Amino acid sequence: MRKITESAHHASFELGGLTVVALLDGHLDLPPSRLLDEDGRAALVDGRLRLSVNAFLVDDGERRVLVDTGASNSWGPTMGRLPESMAAAGADRESITDVAITHAHLDHLNGLIAPDGSDAFPALERVFIGSGDEGRLSGDLARFRDRAVIVTGPLPVTPWMTALPARGHTPGHTVYDVHSGASHLLIWGDTVHVPSVQFEHPEVAWELDADRELARAERAALLERLVAPGYFVAGAHLDWPGIGRVVRDGSGYALVTDLG
Ligand SMILES: [Zn+2]
Repeated sequence: MRKITESAHHASFELGGLTVVALLDGHLDLPPSRLLDEDGRAALVDGRLRLSVNAFLVDDGERRVLVDTGASNSWGPTMGRLPESMAAAGADRESITDVAITHAHLDHLNGLIAPDGSDAFPALERVFIGSGDEGRLSGDLARFRDRAVIVTGPLPVTPWMTALPARGHTPGHTVYDVHSGASHLLIWGDTVHVPSVQFEHPEVAWELDADRELARAERAALLERLVAPGYFVAGAHLDWPGIGRVVRDGSGYALVTDLG
């Protein structure tokens, strides 16, 4: 995998015959107390954890899948710039037919609806979402229920993307394995929520993990899978642009963002 271009709000990478575009929705500032058993290791900005909010578009030249949609106007003014990031990257919102959701939290799901209440992706045909999270397709989001594809086990999204349940952060938390030749990119949603702490200390739990034991076990299993040759990771809250390679580091792991 190699980086082709990077700007403040979009960055593109080549993974075998696929193009992966990281798209910035914005950032979140959260209290460090959300990290449990944490003793001052986290990198803070003005006393808060600053987390990037990233989405990813994968394109084979004919088909494209958008993984996560940002927060739109559902949360706060520091998020919701995904449509602008897509436009700047030359990715037309009208061309999106497939959206793959890692989990049904606001900063991943609510970008299905534009701030004016219209559909953000007017040509949308399928929304992949993990079993257990589909109940969040309610209220304004209920209009997408008829297009939901519920992920209950490994499921091909395209010939080069497979949905894999990775429960814990939410009941339906799902990761997407993008593969081309011998290369894999695991788009892992919120498996690691706070990169400045949880690579080195994957046992540190995040308060908002619905099932902390399950989330911890998935984090350990996925980190272990990612140290294999040919594997790369993309994370919704990894530091912009959210893509790197996992290496073993002492008793934990580290994220290498220089892909060479
Ligand atoms: Zn999140």
